[in-house]
Amino acid sequence: MKKKQYLVIGLGRFGSAVATTLFKKGMEVLAIDRNPDLVQAVSNLVTQAVVADARDKEVLKALGVQDFECAIVAIGSDLAASVLTVMNLKELEVPYVICKAHDETHRRVLEKLGVDRVIIPEQENAQRLARSLNSHNVLDYIELSDDYGILDLPAPKSWVGKTLKELNVRAKLGVNIIAVENGNQTNVSPSADYRILEGDILVVLGDNYSLEAVQKL
Ligand code: ATP
Repeated sequence: MKKKQYLVIGLGRFGSAVATTLFKKGMEVLAIDRNPDLVQAVSNLVTQAVVADARDKEVLKALGVQDFECAIVAIGSDLAASVLTVMNLKELEVPYVICKAHDETHRRVLEKLGVDRVIIPEQENAQRLARSLNSHNVLDYIELSDDYGILDLPAPKSWVGKTLKELNVRAKLGVNIIAVENGNQTNVSPSADYRILEGDILVVLGDNYSLEAVQKL
């Protein structure tokens, strides 16, 4: 199977973490920054790292960015550079463009340009932390959209020893258990006969309202 190809532009803290993590997960990653020191720092941790100014469309074209399925633009503080880079990627018809925004104004500009996904990492992290502190027993929460999320929930005591069929959580609580973790073991998509064990961490998918209800069990 062909490896997924990602382009990461801007190798500050966020961009370099994204680029190196994707590479560790087996993806092909072309990392670009105009700062040679930052390019050098990731050169052994990605497929290819190149010094280039992403404001220059011809340079991006020569690098073959149009062949990538997904580009992540991680230029936060230089609005003009972020906007020009996004416009270049759109004109070169990169199918999926994700862009980091510095603030809400930046987000609005990027949305107008047709960026497929805008992220403000600091804001998302803060919301995630607040949610996990607010809910007494949740280990982690991933927001899928404004309404849906996934959370890691230590199995409620009253569920231990019961099968998923017996608990019937989908019908009763409106959530799906998409995986169960215990120690180093992960059971993805457990069957209805799976019996919950002491120490299980349930990976639960649902709308935020149902997820809140599950946490109160
Ligand atoms: P961090 O992720 O560290 O919070 P940030 O959001 O503050 O970063 P910047 O530091 O402005 O963002 O930019 C991130 C990186 O993008 C920097 O390393 C910078 O050199 C690079 N960068 C900025 N403009 C361009 C450009 N036109 N072409 C390529 N790289 C660029």
